[in-house]
Amino acid sequence: MIQFNVPPYAGPEMEYLEKAAAVNHRISGDGEFTKKCRQFIEERTGTAACLLTTSGTSALEMASHLTRIERGEEVIMPSYTFCSTADAFVLRGAVPVFVDIRPDTMNIDEKLIEDAITDKTRGIAVVHYAGVSCEMDTITEIARRHGLFVVEDAAQAVMASYKGKPLGTIGDFGCYSFHETKNYSMGEGGALLIRDAGRVEDAEILREKGTNRSKFFRGQIDKYTWVDYGSSYLPSELNAAYLAAQFEVADRINKARLARWAQYYEELQPLADEGRIELPTVPAECQHNAHMFYIKAADLAERTKLISFLRENDILSVSHYIPLHTAPAGKKYCCFHGEDRFTTRESERLLRLPMFYSLTEEQVDYICDKVKEFYGKHACV
Ligand SMILES: *Cc1c(COP(=O)(O)O)cnc(C)c1O
Repeated sequence: MIQFNVPPYAGPEMEYLEKAAAVNHRISGDGEFTKKCRQFIEERTGTAACLLTTSGTSALEMASHLTRIERGEEVIMPSYTFCSTADAFVLRGAVPVFVDIRPDTMNIDEKLIEDAITDKTRGIAVVHYAGVSCEMDTITEIARRHGLFVVEDAAQAVMASYKGKPLGTIGDFGCYSFHETKNYSMGEGGALLIRDAGRVEDAEILREKGTNRSKFFRGQIDKYTWVDYGSSYLPSELNAAYLAAQFEVADRINKARLARWAQYYEELQPLADEGRIELPTVPAECQHNAHMFYIKAADLAERTKLISFLRENDILSVSHYIPLHTAPAGKKYCCFHGEDRFTTRESERLLRLPMFYSLTEEQVDYICDKVKEFYGKHACV
């Protein structure tokens, strides 16, 4: 069986876990390995600060709290995303306002954002789907003109960039995920990237139960105290140790994924040329990270058949993201502005093929052959 996902494993993970526990005697947060991960992200991206978190969801939650968005205020985002993008703002009583996506990248359609702005709008939350950037120049310009914040849900976009700028560093806050399904993993984990140095202290307080403990650890104050509201968003050293091993070979992981992605693209190109399937679009200004490889079938019925055909041939492929505005919580807490031309229709066509670090060239060959076999059997009408 070819799994849909296998969590990345670089080699030294267990040795580092042991070092954290038996040598460093530090299994709570913010020890050697957390610092290593933080430094890696700060050096690679140039962000003012990166704080490791317990998940991508908690990074989004921190971003939402730090914007100080209030009950009844609005944040514009796509409906085609994971629920955490919306949850983070719903938890503060804010209202996610969905706009349609672009069918080419599955990202928020930047041309629809301005029309959704009201006197209650406070910000825009973009999602870089599949590690392919949203049209950030346009979005940043709209945000500047209307005085809105920008939060980047860059959960899928670690090591990807837009016009050379690392994703997660363009908006006020960037949110990474290191869940086991993401390119780099710590089991459950994430990171918050903070663009402006002036907001780092507030973020540290929020992450450390509302205390100024981070300042205390740096020796800047002689005792720490409860200074604001907060929660616990810092991950254990054990998780950070796992991630540190992968960051050491981050380029190797990225290269391997990009190679498999390019192979899929090349081998499936003939089917796309015949108009049987659609392949992903990566605009010229975007460097992606091969977070996923998807194809689009004609419609929901064809996709369902293709998923079962692949399963019969020992290949696990998946669909995902039921648009949030059609989900029970989405109906309760959110609203859709404008027309749903592409969100539902395109989400029903999209199919994700296996994509992970240890996926082999032979496996991708086999998967592409089976996809071609399926379309050979179901002749065009
Ligand atoms: C994975 C993901 C998240 C959530 O990350 P977790 O680490 O699982 O909390 C949020 N948004 C998007 C777009 C994701 O893909």
